[in-house]
Amino acid sequence: MIPKSKSLVWFRRDLRTFDHAALHHALRDAVQDGGAVHCAFVFDTDILAGLPRPDRRVRFIHASLRELDAELRQLGGGLIVRHGAAHELIPRLAAELGAASVYVNDDYEPAALARDAHVAALLAADGRALLRFKDQVIFEKSEVLTLGGGVYGVFTPYKNAWLKRLDAQPEAAAPWMIEPYAAGFAAAPALALPSLAALGFDDGPLPAPPGMSGATEAFEAFLPRLSDYGTARDFPQLDATSRLSIHLRFGTTSVRHLVRTLRQMTANGAGGAGAPVWLSELIWRDFYAMILFQHPHIAQQSFKPAFDAVAWEAGIEADALFAAWCDGRTGYPLVDAAMAQLNTTGFMHNRLRMVTASFLVKDLGIDWRLGERYFARQLNDYDLASNVGGWQWAASTGCDAQPWFRIFNPTTQSQRFDRHGEFIRQYLPQLARLEARAIHAPWLAPAEELKACGVVLGENYPAPIVDHAQARQRTLERFAVVQAAQ
Ligand code: FAD
Repeated sequence: MIPKSKSLVWFRRDLRTFDHAALHHALRDAVQDGGAVHCAFVFDTDILAGLPRPDRRVRFIHASLRELDAELRQLGGGLIVRHGAAHELIPRLAAELGAASVYVNDDYEPAALARDAHVAALLAADGRALLRFKDQVIFEKSEVLTLGGGVYGVFTPYKNAWLKRLDAQPEAAAPWMIEPYAAGFAAAPALALPSLAALGFDDGPLPAPPGMSGATEAFEAFLPRLSDYGTARDFPQLDATSRLSIHLRFGTTSVRHLVRTLRQMTANGAGGAGAPVWLSELIWRDFYAMILFQHPHIAQQSFKPAFDAVAWEAGIEADALFAAWCDGRTGYPLVDAAMAQLNTTGFMHNRLRMVTASFLVKDLGIDWRLGERYFARQLNDYDLASNVGGWQWAASTGCDAQPWFRIFNPTTQSQRFDRHGEFIRQYLPQLARLEARAIHAPWLAPAEELKACGVVLGENYPAPIVDHAQARQRTLERFAVVQAAQ
């Protein structure tokens, strides 16, 4: 056995130095055993290989690592950065450093679980251990079960049980302290951060202010708007949501910190009606992580097997429709503006994720998996559990999904949630001069009105690629196979 004096904390989707479970446990053990903790991050070529170039997320991580290193240095440590296959580099680094244990925060995605099992086996073969901690969620895996011990498949009872459990066990949201154990850090050489070019990526603008400071800024900016969250969150032209998803994705904030802050505010009579609604969204995140862990097949297949019988459109025409959806050329302004938001910023408002996903599946008849993969490439906050959860919800194939016969009408969604067309105008400048009554369905506007506003359908803005009423009928027929199986 390797003597227990040195250890390694492997940072992955937890790029912060506060309230960090693995770092806390490594430092505390080191202080108790007289050991020293090294910290490392690997730009994992197994992950980077599948990413588009440029990739906004890689830029965000890259910039966040600089801050992470600076913060670690303030505490007495520092970050070792490597580039290569993590499953090889981590065991090698542990051996180089003489680390008896590698501490990580759990990642519940199937590929991450497989990677960690591989790393654990390689470390074990060398007499070392991989120690895993819950950090990414408040309650994981089987922590919130039905009274009968089953896994929840419906959100509301899960949420009620989650809230009850947190009331009974508030320490689940308690912070994992770092500062008291800072003496456990091993000194680190100066940061050697490979350039984006060396990693094979282009430089460019950041998708959001990075690092813990970026997360703090976003949270502080959001808190004054929290009380209105419940009523304003569905309107994409308003700055009503937190924009913390990228920070939750890469762990530049801690979900415990967010939940604690909410609970404290609520206890002090602050946060208003918006606080429980926002907490509910954080619980959705836990719910989907739990669902993916319990049902890993949902990354590729329908949650409900009967829906695997649905025959999606395929062939050259379907490919062309899919390309039009990706590019924001469907002729439905809200859908196209939403896709423009995604393609130009890497973010898409939640209401619009629902509208565009529903449009792809239920207006174009295209397999939700294609849309899920497209979002995976584009979204700054891409998270397998939430993305698959959201897509299967919109496609009606998921647990607690919207019923298959409920089909969003893209025009009425537009009239309802972007009433004055402000969001559409922001992302589709060619429609900017249209009045609100014409902007949601320009093909219905008189030709002279379009002309006067500089809109030429088929030239500077497409005519609708499908007729919604007919598409709706086709979808009802397509999903009839499910009804027959039920
Ligand atoms: P806020 O409204 O401020 O919510 C706070 C946090 O709660 C979010 O940051 C997020 O972590 C969590 N959250 C909010 N809504 C949901 C939800 N429905 N499911 C799970 N968690 C939620 N979210 C992702 O983080 N990554 C994804 O890849 C992703 N893909 C989606 C795909 C589809 C088709 C749909 C319908 C939703 C998807 N979502 C995804 C959920 C949601 O759209 C985003 O979390 C949200 O828009 C992020 O903006 P925000 O941080 O301002 O959210």
